[in-house]
Amino acid sequence: MAHELPPLPYDYSALEPHIDSQTMHLHHDGHHAAYVKNLNAALEKHADLQKKPADELLRNINSIPEDIRTAVRNNGGGHVNHTMFWRIMKPQGGGEPSGKIADAIKKTFGSFGDFQKQFNEAGTKLFGSGWVWLVRAQGGKLQIVTTPNQNNPLSDGNFPIMGNDVWEHAYYLKYNNRRGEYLTAWWNVLNWAEINQRFEHSESGVHEPALAHR
Ligand code: MN
Repeated sequence: MAHELPPLPYDYSALEPHIDSQTMHLHHDGHHAAYVKNLNAALEKHADLQKKPADELLRNINSIPEDIRTAVRNNGGGHVNHTMFWRIMKPQGGGEPSGKIADAIKKTFGSFGDFQKQFNEAGTKLFGSGWVWLVRAQGGKLQIVTTPNQNNPLSDGNFPIMGNDVWEHAYYLKYNNRRGEYLTAWWNVLNWAEINQRFEHSESGVHEPALAHR
């Protein structure tokens, strides 16, 4: 079974003006496609691993053979991270969350505004390329964490509820070096219904729900 690039769930220009069409083309058709291609290439000589979903490979990253472990971490992570990323955004999104995730954010961080502030600060401080996440940690606590490169929180035992891509390829064409502006604008395209589903899934779930949509 080869891993496949999922289509964007909306048009390339649908997230304008916050995320521009050219960035979406390059990000999805270029970067995400390359992660999928390179993941499949890494698994070419490992028939047993080809049957496993990408999130399962990441969850058990230390059991992946050493000769392909880095390639799976980078490209399997790139695939799973971006599959989630497209789905937690939508046109005419944003606003304040509702439902269970809203209650959990309020309980953990005090208010939605405080959560946004801490999330953006973590994204601003992250040096180099990586992701900023809201995760459900072992024991159920919500936490803001960052990961370098394409590392996915599953490899640290944390379930990713939502995450923002702070690689330069995610924002440089439009925002240049102004990462903070991108981090702020991103909240305008969030799909809180999808994030709520991921949160509810995290309470019981084993598998990455975005991949199940393929
Ligand atoms: Mn990216």
